[in-house]
Amino acid sequence: MNLAFSAEEKAFAEEVRGFIADNLPAPMAAREAMGFHAERARVAEWQRILNRRGWAAPSWPVEHGGTGWTPVQRYIFERECGLANAPEVNLISLSMVGPVLCRFGSPALRERFLEPILRSDAWFCQGFSEPEAGSDLASLRTRAVRDGNDYVVDGHKIWTTDGHVADFMICLARTDPEARPQAGLSMIILPMDDRGVTVRPIRTLDGDHHINEVFLDGVRVPAGNLIGEPNTGWTQAKYLLAHERTHNAYMGMLCRYVARIPGLVDAEEAAGLPAGQAEALRRRHARLAIDVEALEWSVLRVLAAEPGARAAASASALSVRGARCLLRAADLELAVLGPQAVPRFGPDDGPPLPAGATAAAPGRTTQYLYWWAATIFGGSDEIQRGIIWNAVFR
Ligand SMILES: Cc1cc2nc3c(=O)[nH]c(=O)nc-3n(C[C@H](O)[C@H](O)[C@H](O)COP(=O)(O)OP(=O)(O)OC[C@H]3O[C@@H](n4cnc5c(N)ncnc54)[C@H](O)[C@@H]3O)c2cc1C
Repeated sequence: MNLAFSAEEKAFAEEVRGFIADNLPAPMAAREAMGFHAERARVAEWQRILNRRGWAAPSWPVEHGGTGWTPVQRYIFERECGLANAPEVNLISLSMVGPVLCRFGSPALRERFLEPILRSDAWFCQGFSEPEAGSDLASLRTRAVRDGNDYVVDGHKIWTTDGHVADFMICLARTDPEARPQAGLSMIILPMDDRGVTVRPIRTLDGDHHINEVFLDGVRVPAGNLIGEPNTGWTQAKYLLAHERTHNAYMGMLCRYVARIPGLVDAEEAAGLPAGQAEALRRRHARLAIDVEALEWSVLRVLAAEPGARAAASASALSVRGARCLLRAADLELAVLGPQAVPRFGPDDGPPLPAGATAAAPGRTTQYLYWWAATIFGGSDEIQRGIIWNAVFR
């Protein structure tokens, strides 16, 4: 297997780099580089720019607005966006809802949602997890009960990213309480502005508001909002897992860290950091860079392989390794930046900056704290390790 990029792939990377250089607004990239979480307006602006070029949804089928890129081209695109400090697009809409609608949705649902998702006018949150159903998702209790031409949805979702800014929820609900747990689930689309929807914020470790509890109290939606056949929600969820096998390696973000840390060390040394300390930081960076490169090779190997019995285990391995590398990268960056990375809420807030400090990046501490969530969302570390164990060692 050849793991190097071909001449065509290198040319493609050049094309992507050129497009980003010409089109990514500088203030947007600067804010992203500071480590601040991208809010809806910023993400939407970037997504619209990509959409005008036809690049908002690389993983969708071409007939629905996809790019027709190979998996390696999609990887290159993610990497270049990461390196250029582009904000991440709205992944729940573009990488979850869109592909599920393209594969399982009725023509009416596709007609209604695909274009607005591409244009960033329809913003989705993912309502899967519940207080007693996270790792053991199939035990969820939210019910969608058929009532004439509608479904009536009642339940309690939690950890719902972007629930406070989303227009719609893709909700996993029980439609057949008699069937075995996985067999009785369906995906259904709910409007977040329904009067039966209550959103309560949850503050995360980084002090920010990304996630929510969502209470669903008699939310009535047309039966046509159910995706595919009733009770096939688990199949759709598994399809998603197989579809996005490598994204959770966080390569775009990792490449960004690996690329920028040496410059930060140089700047700190020039500003007075003792040479011995700078050298120790460079060694840590070299070890990280080697591991990130090894991870990149793993990603390319997974992309080159056919989806098969071990695909889920490969995705899990990339996710565990990617999240750990991300934490190491963010931790190293804090070690380099020291007080410059401390969040400040006013001019006199936080420890004094060293003389000559150039790289003040207060968002990077919050970003480091947020990355701990990467060991949980999309399936916790322990669950991923269990999947690997079952696939590889049993
Ligand atoms: C920042 C963030 C954003 C999120 N966004 C969303 C979202 O948008 N939509 C959504 O639906 N969900 C979201 N989640 C929820 C996420 O998917 C769940 O938190 C995750 O699946 C774990 O479930 P849980 O929190 O219920 O923990 P539990 O399942 O209760 O697990 C608790 C602990 O027990 C361990 N554990 C559980 N079962 C096993 C086992 N069989 N073997 C070994 N160890 C086990 C887990 O690893 C964990 O350490 C988000 C979570 C976070 C942190």
